[in-house]
Amino acid sequence: MSSTVTTMQQKFGTNPADCTSFISPSIGPCHYEMDIWSHLEGQLRQAGVSDVHNPRVCTAAISTAISLTEPNKAKRDGCSPSLP
Ligand SMILES: [Zn+2]
Repeated sequence: MSSTVTTMQQKFGTNPADCTSFISPSIGPCHYEMDIWSHLEGQLRQAGVSDVHNPRVCTAAISTAISLTEPNKAKRDGCSPSLP
């Protein structure tokens, strides 16, 4: 992530302070042992991007929620399957 920002700076003269970033729906810490969301947020901020948005939509929760075999699993796991 930080290398992307660095490349944008080098190739396009992008100022990280002018950037807005969005973390797309992906697997969250509620369903994966690593907190990828916090890692990405930290990398972006360290690269100078302060406007970081993360709707914290867990794709594993969405997949679980649409499963007819375990309709309440996402709720039990504590993450929201719906878009904010
Ligand atoms: Zn989850």
